[in-house]
Amino acid sequence: MESDKVPLTMAGAVPLYEQYESLTPTFPVARVVSRLLSSVPVEYLRGLQSIVLTDSTRASAKKLRVSGRTIREKHCLAFYHVATPKRSAWIELFVDNIVAEWPSWAIRLSLLRDVVLAKTLFHEIGHHIEASVRGRRPDDAERYAEIWVKKLSRGYFRKRYWYLIPLILPLSYAWTRIRRSSYNKEPSPTPTHSDVLFSDPRSTQRTK
Ligand SMILES: [Zn+2]
Repeated sequence: MESDKVPLTMAGAVPLYEQYESLTPTFPVARVVSRLLSSVPVEYLRGLQSIVLTDSTRASAKKLRVSGRTIREKHCLAFYHVATPKRSAWIELFVDNIVAEWPSWAIRLSLLRDVVLAKTLFHEIGHHIEASVRGRRPDDAERYAEIWVKKLSRGYFRKRYWYLIPLILPLSYAWTRIRRSSYNKEPSPTPTHSDVLFSDPRSTQRTK
């Protein structure tokens, strides 16, 4: 997928592409994703052909079942496209849906941009680690992906934001409040979210 085009950047060993149809990002998304990826051990990215940053206009209105919920493809945050005999695995992030969950002022803060993108990106990389690197497809793949979000986030945030470690508890509390107040102002037509920091059934994996 996308191998005929020139990648925007190489994030570690993985080519990163930006292909938006109706979105003009208000911050350098590729730079954030690239920085997050550089914290992931290279062996976990083995076999990952590319990461594509795009918007949900490229997705269809088809319905999917994810973690017991029905959701339209165009409302998803991201997909992990499992490798097939014809192509390697790749990741697709719908940046408009990812940032739409947060107030615009929050996205101006570097820390929050990192958190917002990390939770979806690392979830999809978690699917890749399980499916391609470890060669297993557990029934509760979503739960495993969330475990990887925590592991990979811990490494990244400890290194980049070490000076905030004493503030983790108050920041987590503020973070939950920001998300809740954002939902209250603009109720989403999509399924409700968990209040758990790194849990969202809308980032999932696809087998076709
Ligand atoms: Zn998932």
